[in-house]
Amino acid sequence: MLDLERLRLDTPGCLERVFLDSAGSSLPPQPVLATVIGHLRREAEVGGYVAAAERADDLTAVRTSIAQLIGATAPEIALVDSATRAWCDFFTSIPLRPGDRVLLSQVEYASNAITALHRAKETGAVVEVVPSDPTGRIDLDALERMIDDRVTLVSLVHVPTNGGLINPVREVVDLAHRHGALVLLDACQSVGQLPIDVGELGVDALSATGRKWLRGPRGTGFLYIRGDLARELKPMAMDLHGAQWLSPDEYLPAADASRFELWECDVAARLGLGVAVDYLLSIGVDYAARAIATGADRIRSELGALPGVRLHDLGTDRCGIVTFTIDGTEPSSIRDRLADSRITVTVSGRSSTLLDMSARGLDAVVRASPHYFVSDGDLSRFAEAVGQLTRE
Ligand SMILES: *Cc1c(COP(=O)(O)O)cnc(C)c1O
Repeated sequence: MLDLERLRLDTPGCLERVFLDSAGSSLPPQPVLATVIGHLRREAEVGGYVAAAERADDLTAVRTSIAQLIGATAPEIALVDSATRAWCDFFTSIPLRPGDRVLLSQVEYASNAITALHRAKETGAVVEVVPSDPTGRIDLDALERMIDDRVTLVSLVHVPTNGGLINPVREVVDLAHRHGALVLLDACQSVGQLPIDVGELGVDALSATGRKWLRGPRGTGFLYIRGDLARELKPMAMDLHGAQWLSPDEYLPAADASRFELWECDVAARLGLGVAVDYLLSIGVDYAARAIATGADRIRSELGALPGVRLHDLGTDRCGIVTFTIDGTEPSSIRDRLADSRITVTVSGRSSTLLDMSARGLDAVVRASPHYFVSDGDLSRFAEAVGQLTRE
């Protein structure tokens, strides 16, 4: 049994407020904070190169820890500075010819869609959207009808930024692979809150961030690339870390996913990410997933019982993101009023998931995302505060 009180004491921020924005930027635990600050201090004492050399083993271990978390191997992991960087770096390394097709899902994240559209414009490829089924999950029948050998890549969002939906992955991968298409999974909202095994999911690549459910520092993220696939890919940018300069006109890209890494990075943040992942591994992803789901289910049932509150989560299995609106009150004003009571939620706007929000006629939703460190008392305060808003 894990002691929630101990986990909360490790999380200074959660004692001051009811923190329900782990889908946005979570509260790092004390060991992450100590690592990041400690390393910045050390850089100031001895210089960044010496400080990094002192932590060489720990820096190497970051990829190993991430690999362990998602059932991969260290050579399949590239450390980058955000989920968007990971997604875009992989996407832009796939050669696209005129007429090639790229499929996105209806809950696609804005930054991914923008990169896909941008690249399609340059290459003559076409971007198409696989609709959602009536439950909100990706419509597998529609995907089956749409997919053919001209589809180069299917982009799937595991959990969207604007709701508790969990998309099926394996079924999409099987359909895509039957037609020779790659699957890139945006796991930004699932890594750290759901158990992930890339072997079971079968995806070709996966992008994730550090600051959300992993509770790592900002400016961190990673890209997973399956097996030897990285060898066939041509990153848009490579430097003296991702490749070797052999002669005046020859260079040799790294054989593994590290060809997607650049040499310079925020070493303190990267060490912090490693500690965040190890912290989660020591707690257990299953524990985290259960606690998060329990908190979110409780929010859904308590808010769902309030008059005038509408819940907007789609799907059949739901996870730790709860979205809602209150009739007659702007989502931003709900967020601000809750902030006055030291309750942190955020607003997810139409432009982040344009296709899905437009299809549902939604402009903005309030998003509450409880991590395992949120207590029952916190959830009661939250439900009470929302109830208060509905009565005004
Ligand atoms: C937050 C988010 C991203 C972007 O992550 P960054 O680390 O900010 O680049 C991508 N996809 C989804 C679904 C997200 O919620």
